[in-house]
Amino acid sequence: MALGEGAGRLRCAGLLLAAVWLTASNCCAIASDMAYATADRVPRVLILYPYDERLVATTVAGEALRSRLLQATDSRIDLFSEFLDLSRFPESDHVARMARYLAEKYANYRPDVVVALGKESASFISTNRETIAPDAKIVAAGFGNSTAENIDLPDDVIGAFTTFDILKTAEMARSLQPSARHLYIIGGSSEFDRGWLATARADLDEFSKSYETTYLEDLTIDEFIDRAAHVPPDSIILALTVFKDRAGRNFIPREAIRQIATTASAPVYAPYQTYIGYGVVGGNTVTFDTLGVTVGNLVLDLMAGRVVSDIQAPQTYVVDARQLRRWRLSEGNLPAGTVQMHKEPSLWEEHWLVATGALAVVLMQAGIIAALLLERRRRHDAESRSRLHLLEAVHLNQSATAGALSSSVAHELNQPLAAIRNNAEAASVLLRSGSPDLELIQQILLDIQEDDQRAGDIIGRMRGLLKKRSEIDWQEFDLNDVASSAIHIIHGEAERRGITLNTNRPTTELPVRADKVHVQQVVLNLATNAMDAMSDAPAKRMLTFATGVAHEKAELCVADTGNGIPEDRLSSIFEPFYTTKQAGTGLGLSIARAIVETYGGTISANNRPEGGAIFRVVLPLSRRVERG
Ligand code: ADP
Repeated sequence: MALGEGAGRLRCAGLLLAAVWLTASNCCAIASDMAYATADRVPRVLILYPYDERLVATTVAGEALRSRLLQATDSRIDLFSEFLDLSRFPESDHVARMARYLAEKYANYRPDVVVALGKESASFISTNRETIAPDAKIVAAGFGNSTAENIDLPDDVIGAFTTFDILKTAEMARSLQPSARHLYIIGGSSEFDRGWLATARADLDEFSKSYETTYLEDLTIDEFIDRAAHVPPDSIILALTVFKDRAGRNFIPREAIRQIATTASAPVYAPYQTYIGYGVVGGNTVTFDTLGVTVGNLVLDLMAGRVVSDIQAPQTYVVDARQLRRWRLSEGNLPAGTVQMHKEPSLWEEHWLVATGALAVVLMQAGIIAALLLERRRRHDAESRSRLHLLEAVHLNQSATAGALSSSVAHELNQPLAAIRNNAEAASVLLRSGSPDLELIQQILLDIQEDDQRAGDIIGRMRGLLKKRSEIDWQEFDLNDVASSAIHIIHGEAERRGITLNTNRPTTELPVRADKVHVQQVVLNLATNAMDAMSDAPAKRMLTFATGVAHEKAELCVADTGNGIPEDRLSSIFEPFYTTKQAGTGLGLSIARAIVETYGGTISANNRPEGGAIFRVVLPLSRRVERG
């Protein structure tokens, strides 16, 4: 009956629905093994639909059948469909006319296989096969064994039949509602409905003993609706078919059931897939898709020349997930393998791809951030280490410079110390006299103070050079000051070596941000190198310091009149360990470069056209200055 659901004129109590199991192996080698495939044509299959194209059951099964055949044969098959419309035109005249028409239509296209969906199609083709498809194999599907017997199908018609079992639907209801105490069975007043009720009574004989059982029959549609709306909540309602009510109103059964189930006060179950979506929870049935595929496999077997016989199809439990929610029925109580229709995917099921992607992106980002943080930490550590190394190197370099300058510093100290001694002696002589000139003594003491200050300044500068630091002492200072304090430090040594110190008159302040002692060390390195370079220069020895602004930066140049730098050394002179001096380390210039670069500056060396070398230190200005 399932395929005929909606055909109010159904007379046969075909409570058995057809379906077939076939193994996947059936599909193999169809194309090559096709018994009907000849060189000049592909096999032809005629599908007979019993009603018109609006009958969902037959069209769904037919579509599944078509897809299966087209897919298995790689579309090398001719498929024909005929809607016999035997529900609206059951008269024998129409049937005869339809038979004649099809006989003529297919005169030149005799089908190799005819698939009759529904018992009406099966009867039709059994009666008219000689004129329409004399050599065709016939497959009948969509009804049960007993129906097949009723319509007296020829022996060679292959059937895809199955037993249609209301008991299984009832059992499903019981497992979903274990505490139910009442059982209601709904059936209409048509001959078919009554037959169905009788079958159900027999099938549910045992089952119904556990419940207070009521058969709702011989009622009008309104009575059905009313009764169902007032059953106790612990009830199971089994709906069969209502093709006709007591008042003689005809219905498409699922429409009648929809009206009843909408306001029912307990869950309604039914053994038809077509009722799903019409307010019923579900039941044990055959899905029309499965039926179509199953029949398709049977046809493929026939075309391949395999021996086939009637088969039974498996039933499936089908439920409407929305109804499970409506009645708060637990999914966990469903029979294994139940197909849930209209199941809304969970948030995770619906968005798992996006969620997984987002998670992956977040994890990736976290990974990258962690790696970057680690990298930053490493860089930071490396920078700290290299700064420490630089500070140590600068300190060593300062000590070396102080050592180199020590004799001239000692010499320089000699002057104020000798002056202090002489002045002190003069003062004591004056004090021993009869009338000491106190004014003169006062002047002498002032001179002593001044000389002490000079000696203190000399020692202070040296101490500054020798002071060890563990951190850079960032400060803003005038680059001109560094030049003049360097001159102060080395002037004694320069004098000792017969070198004239020269300096331009700075007109502009040159504010830079750095550690002043470090920059001073750079200048001292350049100055001592310059003095060394002039040690065997015969002519006038001149060491020049010049400061100024170049390209918006502070610049300090140290120029000498020595022998200059070999041209091939100019580019690599700042590399460590290059030295031409006997006691040299070759580290002074590389340390100078490291210092300058630490403060964002550059250092370069060149030979002057007039002879000698010139070193240029450039540092960023810490603020804009007015050009003097
Ligand atoms: P060191 O002074 O221990 O040799 P430096 O790195 O300070 O190490 O100098 C490296 C070398 O660069 C010197 O040995 C010298 O050959 C060369 N040099 C440096 N300054 C000058 C200069 N003003 N004129 C000529 N050569 C120089």
